[in-house]
Amino acid sequence: MRDTAPNSWESRADAHSLYGFTDLPSIHARGAVVLTHGEGPYVVDVHGRRYLDANSGLWNMVAGFDHPGLIAAAKAQYDRFPGYHAFFGRMSDQTVMLSEKLVEVSPFDRGRVFYTNSGSEANDTMVKILWFLHGAEGKPERRKILTRWNGYHGVTVVSASMTGKPYNSVFGLPLPGFIHLTCPHYWREGRPGESEADFTRRMAQELEDVIAREGADTIAGFFAEPVMGAGGVIPPSAGYFQAIQPILKKHGIPLIADEVITGFGRTGHVWGSQTYDFTPDAIISSKNITAGFFPMGAVILGPELADRVQAAAEAIEEFPHGFTASGHPVGCAIALKAIEVVMNEGLLDNVRALTPRFEAGLRELARNPNIGEWRGKGLMGALEAVKDKATKTPFDSKLSVSERIANTCTDLGLICRPLGQAVVLCPPFIITEAQMDEMFDKLGQALTKVF
Ligand code: PLP
Repeated sequence: MRDTAPNSWESRADAHSLYGFTDLPSIHARGAVVLTHGEGPYVVDVHGRRYLDANSGLWNMVAGFDHPGLIAAAKAQYDRFPGYHAFFGRMSDQTVMLSEKLVEVSPFDRGRVFYTNSGSEANDTMVKILWFLHGAEGKPERRKILTRWNGYHGVTVVSASMTGKPYNSVFGLPLPGFIHLTCPHYWREGRPGESEADFTRRMAQELEDVIAREGADTIAGFFAEPVMGAGGVIPPSAGYFQAIQPILKKHGIPLIADEVITGFGRTGHVWGSQTYDFTPDAIISSKNITAGFFPMGAVILGPELADRVQAAAEAIEEFPHGFTASGHPVGCAIALKAIEVVMNEGLLDNVRALTPRFEAGLRELARNPNIGEWRGKGLMGALEAVKDKATKTPFDSKLSVSERIANTCTDLGLICRPLGQAVVLCPPFIITEAQMDEMFDKLGQALTKVF
């Protein structure tokens, strides 16, 4: 429980923080967990308590918190060249090498990369690229952006408008022209008696209807996470991307895969779009791109968009966009190492090897009468709490059952994330079998205490 002394870390954190995305009654009662360092998949707080971080920080610390190779790559690059932008005809050698590497590991045979500092900015940048492109091609009215309810794309004004979460209304968002389609979550959104195949057909028909209603030539692009992450780990219904991609193609609407969470291994392939067997027109990457060791995002354009955007830029002699730290050499050096670590040093193999055990652990805990559904892909999973399993009736959201489960886990030395009525697990890729058992054991104890 919280230390209320005025000079405690908890009180000092409270005094000067505008907490983002934090349940305030709970934090006032319990105090913030103030961390000093990490050890593998564990983090340690100012009181010396260790927590197994089944959140991977925020989905991103996939190699753990003290990976020596990543720390060495960062230190070496800080010694060599601590910072630079990627404009005005200059960029670091690391930036050149990372762009080559990103295109090489992408599903594209050719492409172009643009760097940002975050996933939000990468989505924002992609929207600007589309608006720039359509304007340059004589179709400036192609500005609307299609996304889905429960999709999460970030917090900047544009990426928050893309995000399908009701809380954005407190900011007066979304902006006009950001249209949210139904979340393709068969368990929650499927109608009584509707098969999964019929549900997927209904999602595709909805897309056709929205395009017909809005007019294809007013739509700039469609953004989707291969597996929704912050919406509560929601894999798409079977055949979803195969059903919608031909419709988008027919209407000339680019399909952008937001792979900020799913990129670099989380679902068992390098890209979530590979796991779901579709090739998007562009990829948004962040988080795992540096294994969380540096803030970085990237837009990776596939060949067709790359050629069209490049031609549009050539026509006005410039693509007028960029951030001071775009293509930061330290971030690029870390990303090069992170990609090597994930792809060549066994992390991706570990995701694949441990996925069956992860799924078995989720399935076992879902036998609890108050868990309505387990779901997941690779090493991202969720348990959805319900008041009534048979009718799927949710708990009153104000009671925030998932928050209570997560708080109980924290007390037991496990960090997991409440998202809506779901508890989400996305452990670092370095997790061992024993640590996975510890994770499920503690979560099981928490479920028993709360229900
Ligand atoms: N897109 C997805 C799928 C995300 O999960 C996130 C963050 O969680 C973002 C975009 C935004 O990234 P950032 O928080 O780095 O701005």
